[in-house]
Amino acid sequence: GFRRGRLLEKLGQKSLDTAELFFDGVRVPAANLLGEAEGRGFTQLMQQLPRERLLIAVGAVATMRRAIDETVAYTRTRQVFGQPLIDMQNTRFKLAECETVATIAARFVDDCITRQLEGVLDLSTAAMAKWWTTQMNCQVIDECLQLHGGYGYMLEYPIARMYADARVGKIYGGSNEIMKEIIARGMTA
Ligand SMILES: Cc1cc2nc3c(=O)[nH]c(=O)nc-3n(C[C@H](O)[C@H](O)[C@H](O)COP(=O)(O)OP(=O)(O)OC[C@H]3O[C@@H](n4cnc5c(N)ncnc54)[C@H](O)[C@@H]3O)c2cc1C
Repeated sequence: GFRRGRLLEKLGQKSLDTAELFFDGVRVPAANLLGEAEGRGFTQLMQQLPRERLLIAVGAVATMRRAIDETVAYTRTRQVFGQPLIDMQNTRFKLAECETVATIAARFVDDCITRQLEGVLDLSTAAMAKWWTTQMNCQVIDECLQLHGGYGYMLEYPIARMYADARVGKIYGGSNEIMKEIIARGMTA
């Protein structure tokens, strides 16, 4: 009863194969049961969701760092109107804004990691980390790509691939709208 669907062609994350998996009336021997008891699969899966969302947030923070580092390096070498792009006020302000966001994101995610290690990372905090860092990641990468000019649109530049790879962060692991619903539920319950 198990079958794998075709490989899906994605906008980004090209090195990661993605396919649908179909389970139609599959029988699993009792000896192969994962976890404590039959019928608790979904509950067990739910318990791991804060961890999955934290992992996505860690990825977003790491990508922001790389995007900023790439952009600092690029704007140092690119000359416009007789001076390095990095010396222009707009570049400096944009980089400063990105650095501020990346620093705040890293501090928050560090705190979430500590909570996870202590076994107290709750659904709502993990949802905050997931939606906010993935949203900020897309924003930071977009600013960084803009500072690359036309080269930023070329896939041979890492920033273009980061742009394509980052977008799914706002969708998978539970969409960011669902993350906000989880947070709101915690506030209004
Ligand atoms: C590359 C990739 C890898 C993936 N990997 C996995 C995986 O390994 N395992 C797995 O199980 N899944 C995986 N997914 C699926 C992913 O988790 C879902 O696509 C995601 O949770 C969104 O669900 P959906 O696609 O059904 O969108 P929908 O639920 O159809 O959402 C469509 C839109 O409606 C909004 N929406 C839906 N419900 C509400 C609501 N109640 N209130 C407000 N807005 C709402 C959503 O936010 C979204 O904007 C993957 C998806 C992708 C793209």
